[in-house]
Amino acid sequence: MADSSLNPYLRAQQAFKEAVDTLGLEPAVYEILKQPLRSFEVAVPFIRDDGNLQVFNGYRVQHNDALGPTKGGLRFHTAVNMDEVKALAMWMSVKCALLGLPYGGAKGGIACDVDQLSDHELERLSREYIRAVSLVIGPDKDIPAPDVSTNPQIMAWMVDEYSRIRGENTFGLITGKPMVIGGSAGRVAATGRGLVFATKQLATELGIDFAKSQIAIQGFGNVGSVAADIAYAMGAKVLAISDKDGGLYNPSGINIPELLEYQRVHRFLTGFPGAEPISNEELLELPVDILFPAALENQITADNAGKIRARIVGEGANGPTTPEADRILFDKGIMVIPDVLGNSGGVTVSYFEWVQNQTRFYWSEDEVNRRLEEYMSRAMAEMHTMHERFGVTLRKAAYLVAVERIAQAMRYRGWLK
Ligand code: GLU
Repeated sequence: MADSSLNPYLRAQQAFKEAVDTLGLEPAVYEILKQPLRSFEVAVPFIRDDGNLQVFNGYRVQHNDALGPTKGGLRFHTAVNMDEVKALAMWMSVKCALLGLPYGGAKGGIACDVDQLSDHELERLSREYIRAVSLVIGPDKDIPAPDVSTNPQIMAWMVDEYSRIRGENTFGLITGKPMVIGGSAGRVAATGRGLVFATKQLATELGIDFAKSQIAIQGFGNVGSVAADIAYAMGAKVLAISDKDGGLYNPSGINIPELLEYQRVHRFLTGFPGAEPISNEELLELPVDILFPAALENQITADNAGKIRARIVGEGANGPTTPEADRILFDKGIMVIPDVLGNSGGVTVSYFEWVQNQTRFYWSEDEVNRRLEEYMSRAMAEMHTMHERFGVTLRKAAYLVAVERIAQAMRYRGWLK
């Protein structure tokens, strides 16, 4: 059966609609939230190493700024397009509101293949992108951050470019920076750490001992690799893990520190001696306690949801599960930690980074991690209250918390009359 919900933008709209209806809010709330306030598509011309000029398509979408300036990552990936960026911006609105951050949602990116770019090309492209969007971003306007295939070095080039344009150091422009230029302790690990934190909490409620659990992880980027590392250190067994090149499986558990070292040297996971190859499909369908989809959207669909055998799906990626798949997992009794909570550790520590930039006072890693747990626990408690009050999935409950908060802000600000 084909899954009719693969377009993430339509899905995001539907989720907002359901939340507005369930809460019984005025229709104006949906009329405003159903599309981003501002969507920019920019041409990003840059010079390749061979001297030729190439123009890539760049995007920046600001969904809603009722709660504060907009916030969200920048993705460098061939599949980046306007509908995807709009959906990702809408999901950021939900994430920020759910976590109680003073931000609205945004997202951006460039349709490009980073594997085809040299470091110098990547730098020129990153700087040109900032030139193209410099008028619409800013520390009190819209604050970018890393996402798929972007990293602290790229954030550094970007904040440097913006600071040159402004003629002053503007570290608060962007988060996920290297620590020496205004980055926060704990930011790199924050998303993976938050995912493990939320999952451990739910596992305990379900009578699963996280430290003895078996885990499969799709993705070995900033989220998957950190979640694997932390889970391994806690005693859990990572039976399978993959990157965009292929997957690895070891029924007695993969040695994650050794795998991280292997990846540092070889860049990809394939060929790691401590495990055998596994396909992406097989990985998702393993009989484990916990499955972390931590790669891209639309991985668990109507086609494979029936075959998922994990007890908990903790979404590290944005939008990995389609609504039809969500229903199938629900009927099978599989608990899903929705992306807007599961991967919210990243933007939460981004918020801490921005606060530290604004105040010029930097916190210890312990302080950051302590506050991260505080913010995530509060959001989880609010999500649970809605889950029980309306008898809906955790995902829908998360939307209810978020939409209620955004609607309240819009009402006070006089946008709904
Ligand atoms: N790209 C991350 C996300 O999807 C982080 C965004 C941020 O830190 O602003 O949540």
